[in-house]
Amino acid sequence: MTQSTRMPVIFLGHGSPTNALEDNDCTRAWHRIARSVGTPRAILSVSAHWYTRGTGVTAMAMPRTIHDFGRSLPAPLFDLQYPAPGDPALAQRIRDILAPVPVALDESWGLDHGTWSVLLKAWPEADIPVVQLSIDATQPGAWHHEIGRKLRVLRDEGVLIMGTGNVVHNLGVMQWSEQAEPYDWATRFNEYVINAINDDAPERLFEPSSLGRDAALSIPSPDHYLPLLYALGARHPGDRVEIDPKHIVFKSLSMMSFILDDRPQRT
Ligand code: ZN
Repeated sequence: MTQSTRMPVIFLGHGSPTNALEDNDCTRAWHRIARSVGTPRAILSVSAHWYTRGTGVTAMAMPRTIHDFGRSLPAPLFDLQYPAPGDPALAQRIRDILAPVPVALDESWGLDHGTWSVLLKAWPEADIPVVQLSIDATQPGAWHHEIGRKLRVLRDEGVLIMGTGNVVHNLGVMQWSEQAEPYDWATRFNEYVINAINDDAPERLFEPSSLGRDAALSIPSPDHYLPLLYALGARHPGDRVEIDPKHIVFKSLSMMSFILDDRPQRT
């Protein structure tokens, strides 16, 4: 297998579901990232919005589009569909790779908005098979990173591994004003994460509960943070990292996204 066939890994800060209806800096960045990736054989998405006890993988042939957000959001959002096929064989392969960790072959979930709101912008054709892996809420940070490391082999099988969450995600103190300056603690923690990624030091990120007040305010609950650890687990030594965008919206929501890639940079 030559280097050029190895798929990158991506992490996308998905933010508000309404991004799916918009054309903004972040949605354009997701599209750029997709162009840089090319066309994977399949996409394995680890979404903040499938946060479970134990681990599951979607195993249906045609996953449904789940509108998992409140009715207060704009009506057109509920009409959006992302009719990508599933990939039952890939689900089984993931189960085999992760053994002896038990992985349930799931027939009831589908694609939640953590997955489809970004894929709709990145690969709007919805013709690439998509499988979701759930996040086991009972496990510590190092465990999630290790699952990402085990899944890394899929990069050499044409599978794009994608984490989708937000490394700073505090909805309780968010302010819906685009112009608002981010909170100092949000800026500091966002920078802390970016530095650890640039330094290839994922262990600094395993236990944010030990990182003090900035981390505690940035991560009131771990669901949106943990997809990051899967993406970093799937990193190969020497992967180039490109972080874009890096900014925080609504004072407390980091849109930080990145691609890890060992292929020569495209011009
Ligand atoms: Zn979310």
